[in-house]
Amino acid sequence: MKTNESTEAQPLEKLHDWEEFVVKQVYPEPNTRQKESYRNYDNPARDTVREFYRLNHLNQTYDFVLQKRQEFLPPRRQEMTIFEGIDFLNTLVDDSDPDTDLDQLQHLLQTSEAIRNDGHEDWFVLTGFLHDLGKVLCLYGEPQWAVVGDTFPVGCRFSEKIVYPEFFAANPDSKDPRYNTELGVYEKGCGLRNVHMSWGHDEYLFHVMKDYLPESALYMIRYHSCYAWHRENQYEHLYDNHDREMLYWVRKFNPYDLYSKCPVPPNWKELKSYYTNLFEKYLPAKIAF
Ligand code: FE
Ligand code: FE
Repeated sequence: MKTNESTEAQPLEKLHDWEEFVVKQVYPEPNTRQKESYRNYDNPARDTVREFYRLNHLNQTYDFVLQKRQEFLPPRRQEMTIFEGIDFLNTLVDDSDPDTDLDQLQHLLQTSEAIRNDGHEDWFVLTGFLHDLGKVLCLYGEPQWAVVGDTFPVGCRFSEKIVYPEFFAANPDSKDPRYNTELGVYEKGCGLRNVHMSWGHDEYLFHVMKDYLPESALYMIRYHSCYAWHRENQYEHLYDNHDREMLYWVRKFNPYDLYSKCPVPPNWKELKSYYTNLFEKYLPAKIAF
């Protein structure tokens, strides 16, 4: 049983419930799935996802983001190999349905193997494998709403195209004239690298990996949850030509993250040597998280 306190910080039964919601209800897979068929209003997960977004949109303020950046950047809590990082992440056990639920490693492997099967370059495969390692933030005691969920710029007006936009009314920044105009604290066309995103596993992992991976890989990692940008074409006034070029890669990555569900789960034992070589090619032995 969850205590009230933990329910308050951790409304999702399963960490990826918000993604299930995104996949099935907001952005269903093109052509293959009917939006209607996934609208199961008796599904209790629906309310937990709503509560998750209420907390996320209430608490992700400009000041909160600055505070978290101070706390976690540059990453310095521990040095880990990727294997240690995965073992650590896999201690993150979701509360229910152990039999239907994929562990964190399986999601990463399914994403990267789908990319590999499509014949993409090895850095892209590696990015698929790494992209959610930032969820170790949960193990540093962070609430779910500060680790997962859609991400969006803070310090300027929240887009109406973000999931559950009505919850932003309770965010103090919505009433703060410094932060509630179209540009807010930013200059027109300043580029997304100069914009603070809501805090979560994407921004955090970008900082963990930024010295090791190609630029396109870093964009995939940093913006994979920014649906308002890569799906809804929002924030045109903030990005520059470099962002426009990189959007191609962010979009290329997204279907692998959302829709990769292999009928036969990839076998880690068989694949481990391939991935070990990939880590060695691109990454140092230990990385600061
Ligand atoms: Fe993610
Ligand atoms: Fe993911």
